[in-house]
Amino acid sequence: MSEPDRIENLGTYEMIWDCKFCGTQSLPAKTHKFCPNCGAAQDARSRRFPSDDEKKAVENYVSQGADLICPACSTPNAATAKFCQQCGAPMEGAQKVETLHSQVRDQDEKFQASEVRSVDNVAYEKDLRAAGVLPNAAAGGSKTGLYVLIGIGALAIIAILVAIFWRKDASAVVAGHEWERSIDIQTLSAVPGGTWCDSMPFDAYNISRSREQRSSRSIPVGEECGVRRIDNGDGTFSERRECQTVYEEEPIYDDYCSFVTNQWVYARSVEQMGESLTDAPRWPLLQLNSGTCLGCEREGGRSESYAITLQAGDKTYTCQVPYAFWEQADVGSAWNFKVSVITGRPDCGSLEPTG
Ligand SMILES: [Zn+2]
Ligand SMILES: [Zn+2]
Repeated sequence: MSEPDRIENLGTYEMIWDCKFCGTQSLPAKTHKFCPNCGAAQDARSRRFPSDDEKKAVENYVSQGADLICPACSTPNAATAKFCQQCGAPMEGAQKVETLHSQVRDQDEKFQASEVRSVDNVAYEKDLRAAGVLPNAAAGGSKTGLYVLIGIGALAIIAILVAIFWRKDASAVVAGHEWERSIDIQTLSAVPGGTWCDSMPFDAYNISRSREQRSSRSIPVGEECGVRRIDNGDGTFSERRECQTVYEEEPIYDDYCSFVTNQWVYARSVEQMGESLTDAPRWPLLQLNSGTCLGCEREGGRSESYAITLQAGDKTYTCQVPYAFWEQADVGSAWNFKVSVITGRPDCGSLEPTG
């Protein structure tokens, strides 16, 4: 649950505890630090929340922080105590009482008392966890899966790095040349479009308008509340109402425009190719229906690419290279370069003339 929008304090009440020596239950944990039946000191680990019907209010509550556990006799003492009220041992270095998870309920329910705590089991479980027999904390089981995932991810990254960087030396002679030049052709077309009318392009035509939902605003319509009990660790708990504002979405409408604009749109490409140095690269000849009519044509963009074929024994490699390089790499000239061991692909940027 997210942070509450509003918190209202409902008072402070006594936790209850159970005497493990004589079996007396539901003793108020702030009033009775000792069992009224047998005199045994309160065990803070037996503290629990009472039901709504049996809870007792603490008047003029002042928080001093969670109790400290006497290192000699385990009796809970106020956080300010210098010596144990039960055995007189100094409280230096004493551990704080472990507090319970808070209890939460809906506004119109009642709290039940939390279950009697099996004190010996709590201690036993702690020992098991310390010895590693039980997993540490609740997330223990899922952590193994996380480590496996991290391991698989690391292996995959290593495999990718090997594929990229593991290369061997190769040498070959230029066996052929290829070139390709291409020009994109665009035609002026009627393109349907739509947008909010306040941002419509100035050259739009065939416009039709409609009312559409453009956004929405959140309107607070009420509150959802629950009650939380927080263990103060000193034999008391605080109760508070926590409320979250409830919102409803209200639509906001605006004018939406559908229209047509004339735009230059890619239509086709015209290509020219050659397969040798002597067949000099040239641009394809264009015959365009020029103008500004619908269906008229214009040039959209040019691209060119040059490749050499390299022969090494029975292996053939193809490399895309810049024009200046392509023009000077004569058939029969010898070159050294790197080849990826995994993919067999040449690193065309590593081409160096032999010798
Ligand atoms: Zn008792
Ligand atoms: Zn003590």
